[in-house]
Amino acid sequence: MFNTLTQQPADKILALLALYRDDPRDTKIDLGVGVYKNAEGVTPIMRAVKEAERRWWDAEETKAYIGLAGDPQFSDVMINLVLADAVKRNQVAAVATPGGTGAVRQAFELIKMANPSARVFVSNPTWPNHLSILKHLNVEAVTYRYFDEATGGVDFDGMVEDLSGAQAGDVVLLHGCCHNPTGANLTLPQWQAVVDLMNSKGLIPMVDIAYQGFGDGVDEDAAATRLVASSCPETLIAASCSKNFGIYRERTGLLVAVSQDASAQATTQGNLAYLNRQNYSFPPDHGSRLVTLVLSDDALRADWLEELEATRLGMLSLRQQLANELRTLSNSDRFGFVAQHRGMFSRLGLSPEIVERLRADYAIYMVGDSRINVAGLNAQTVPVLARAIIEAGG
Ligand code: PMP
Repeated sequence: MFNTLTQQPADKILALLALYRDDPRDTKIDLGVGVYKNAEGVTPIMRAVKEAERRWWDAEETKAYIGLAGDPQFSDVMINLVLADAVKRNQVAAVATPGGTGAVRQAFELIKMANPSARVFVSNPTWPNHLSILKHLNVEAVTYRYFDEATGGVDFDGMVEDLSGAQAGDVVLLHGCCHNPTGANLTLPQWQAVVDLMNSKGLIPMVDIAYQGFGDGVDEDAAATRLVASSCPETLIAASCSKNFGIYRERTGLLVAVSQDASAQATTQGNLAYLNRQNYSFPPDHGSRLVTLVLSDDALRADWLEELEATRLGMLSLRQQLANELRTLSNSDRFGFVAQHRGMFSRLGLSPEIVERLRADYAIYMVGDSRINVAGLNAQTVPVLARAIIEAGG
């Protein structure tokens, strides 16, 4: 049987990581990986998470199953974090999932179950896993223009034109904040225009929010998701706790479906639990327990918010420093978008040849599409990167 299998395409980012690991140069800089790193290059366990873990170690008395939807308290704290009071609680169905990826996967499965002919519109570019999961599930993906290579911003006219080609029942996948891989985001008035377009054409929004708190602030980063959920009749939301709680390997996420009314909510909730049952039965509990403990304890929550804010401001200041260095060295403002982008990533708009030259000649590793992880930099390496980009012909 196994001899019928064919090789799967290699994950480009993981392949890059292996190249980096094997590079003997001690000046090497890793801007490829998709995790937050502090100035020392460490992905820290957040203080409040560690404290919650200590408390839970003492308090936990059983590891018996909880429920197919996970602990309802986790859903509650996360719905509050993401949606605040944007929608009525009796319209919201939610299940815990293994990471944001689990939520994305379950959302796509729900779409397929509810409407097998729905297509999913995704930004060009998007997180590559969106495309590969859709392909795996045999759900048609249609790309819409998103990134404007010339300006480093959003090609909003192109986006609207392409979304106008969607049909009623199609799904529009949007990054709630901190777009991966570009770093370019819609303004709130642009979000409103997309909401109006989706409503006028009967399109269903799906918001992937994986970096809440990494862009402009915890509430600011959720503003677009809240706008969509409160303005559209139905919304799917895939939320990840990997980045903003730093619990990547605990696999913690939430899938939310906002329905039109309480009776649709009950059926949707049942279907989400059913999907969990088919795929992995009970979702993991440890990470979601930590999130619940942090968000429901005033002191832990305040400490988490403080550390998250410091993380966010650190990345913002690296962006500003990089934009300034590039302005000075290139004697132009053509990299000014780096300071406008938000989140961990920025697409620099460098050619694949320059990306390769940076790796070969300068030991600077970025993804082939010239996406950098800003958190892979520190105050010392920013000028090194800026100089290398200009010298390499960027
Ligand atoms: N969506 C986007 C856009 C992402 O960038 C990521 C993480 N790379 C995820 C979802 C899912 O992350 P995780 O499964 O680790 O929570």
